[in-house]
Formats: sequence, structure tokens, C-alpha cells
Amino acid sequence: MNNAELMMEQVKAVWNFDFEAVTSNQVHRALAKERLALDDLGVLLSPAGFLHIEEMALKAREVTARFFGRNIALYTPLYIANHCVNECSYCGYNLRNHIRRAKLSFKEIETEAEAIAATGLTEILLLTGESRVKSDVDYIAGAVKILARHFRCVGIEVYPMNVDEYRQIQQAGADYVSVYQETYDPDLYDRVHLSGPKKDYAWRFGANQRALEAGFRGVSFGALLGLGDFRRDVLATGAHAELIARKYPQAEISFSTPRLRPFPNQEKNESHVGEAELAQVILALRLFMPWAGLSLSTRERAEFRDHLIGLGITRLSAGVETGVGGHSGEGKGDEQFHKSDGRSVEEVRRAIAAKGCQPVFNDYVRV
Ligand code: SF4
Repeated sequence: MNNAELMMEQVKAVWNFDFEAVTSNQVHRALAKERLALDDLGVLLSPAGFLHIEEMALKAREVTARFFGRNIALYTPLYIANHCVNECSYCGYNLRNHIRRAKLSFKEIETEAEAIAATGLTEILLLTGESRVKSDVDYIAGAVKILARHFRCVGIEVYPMNVDEYRQIQQAGADYVSVYQETYDPDLYDRVHLSGPKKDYAWRFGANQRALEAGFRGVSFGALLGLGDFRRDVLATGAHAELIARKYPQAEISFSTPRLRPFPNQEKNESHVGEAELAQVILALRLFMPWAGLSLSTRERAEFRDHLIGLGITRLSAGVETGVGGHSGEGKGDEQFHKSDGRSVEEVRRAIAAKGCQPVFNDYVRV
């Protein structure tokens, strides 16, 4: 068994955690600890933990201030293509969905980059659908090179790659990789990924590790909340991230907590995970891994995102377009999901400041 397979088995082991059996005493004990173990994350995610959400919020506020001060980093995603060869039941880009497909030329990417940079942002997340034919590695590397001229920090959220491919993208100027497992339940994973290379659970599971092997400085973990049992998925996400953090202590680890959202031609794709449970997830992850980054996307309402400022999140997206292009004029391709928070960079900046926090446009200098 290689290292990635061993990690996969260790993550699967958390699947039997009994959330219903957790007691209030266990929650109190977990909240009193300076350093939480994986089981404590399970405790805080439990229904009993939910009854102590106010105490979790107080502690998360204190921990967030200790590790991150009052800083909230700002970034925006840039979708450069929406062609996809996968059939994911929950996503607007799935190959069976009849939407406007598009791919930006390098010249169009440059124009988009200039428009985004003019808003003051210095961090960008490049996304494509997952098509190695339409968005090959050279295309993504070329796009990264353009973005690295305009932004201090470039992330990518594209199909899982091998180590050599990740190295090419890293050397082009990218800093971090986001590959979300969507669900850690292998049976459900197989059911919601109807066809395409994404059906390969193990290949996706090992992607963040391969990115670190290739020299990336950061990786992001997440499950799509609402696909399955969110408590199990978040506990498995924490287990995965912790194993990677132990093996790669230099890695910058971050989490994202996306919930299902409606998308073009599917308006009923709502998550069964409510905002209160999502808040529980965010607080629990903050207390479990106090040093990790935590993003909250525009899948969530503006009021909810603002409410979480200071309570655990460290990054907010702003001025978001979830279609292809659209920052410098009309978008070329349809959106991946309907966003809930359509505020501009300036509006999000003001909302952060109104909460007594510091909007941070750059916390990284490439040398
Ligand atoms: S989730 Fe990713 S792989 Fe699946 S359809 Fe959407 S873009 Fe394609």
C-alpha cells in the first residue's frame, strides 16, 4: 500500500464515528482543550455540539484573533473555461447540461486580469471545468503565467493532475491548489459522479498530496455540504487535512465549506444543510485546526458571510462571476452555480471594515 492509499484507509476509519452518542460533557471537555484531536472535531460536529454553538463561537472568536488578528483576505475566482467531461449530478458544468460553453483566449484572460486587478485585488483563483482536451495543461500554465503578472497570489481549481503536470503549473507561477473531494463516502461518490474520469475516487483523493510533492506551498480541502452526511464528510475532511499537515508541515492548509446551490437548468439543487449547521461546521474546523485558512464563498448570503467575520473565516471572495469571463464585459459562458452574494470588491471591503476587521488585499510577497 503506498502512502496515499494508506491515508485513504485512515480517513475511511473516521466513518464510523458515532455523532448521536456524543454528550454535553464531551463537548465541554473538547472546548476546554488547547489542542483538539480528531475525535474532538467529531464531538463539536455532533448534535450535542450544536447545542453549545454559542460557546463554540466565543472560543472561535478568541482563537481566530490569536492566529489571524482581525485580518480577512480578499480574492476572486476567474473561470477561464466551462467545458467538462464529467457528469456530476450537482454541478451546472456537467457535460449533459445544455449551457453556453466557452473558453477564454490568452488575450481575453489578460483583459479579465486587468479588469480584476483594477478593483485592487491581488489574489485570484483560476478555475476551469474538467476537460483535458479543451483546457490542457499548457493552456492552464499559460493562463497562470498571465495571472502571475497581475496578482501576487494565484490559486488553481482544475482537474487533478500528476506530479509533473502540477510542477509545470507551479513553475508557471501558481501558489496553491484546491481539489475538493466533494464527499468522502465512496459509495455516494460513485453514485453522484455518473460518468467521466472524476469517478476515480483515489486519484482525486491523492491530488493535494501530489501538488505538494510538486512544490506548491498550499492546498485546500473541502466537501460539498448537502451531498451526503455533512458531519461525516467534514470529519473526514479534517482527517485528510490533518494527515497531510503531519506529512508536509510546511504546507499552508486551508478549508472551504461549500454547500449545494441551484444551477442553470436545475433550480432545486438546494442543500439540506442549514445556515446554522454550516456555522457549526466553520466553528468546529476553526477550533480543530486554528492555523488553517478558511474560505466562505458567494454561495452564501451576504448577511450570513458578514455574520461569520471574526468567528473563524479568514478569506472572502468578492466581485464574483461564476460564468466564464464577465469581469471586463459580457460573460462568454454560463455559470457553474447561482451565487447568493453579488457584492463588489468595494462593498465587501466596507462590510469587513464595518465589523472592525482589516480587509487584506495582500499577505504574500513572491520572491
Ligand atoms: S463539479 Fe467539476 S468535474 Fe463535476 S461537472 Fe462541475 S466542473 Fe465538471
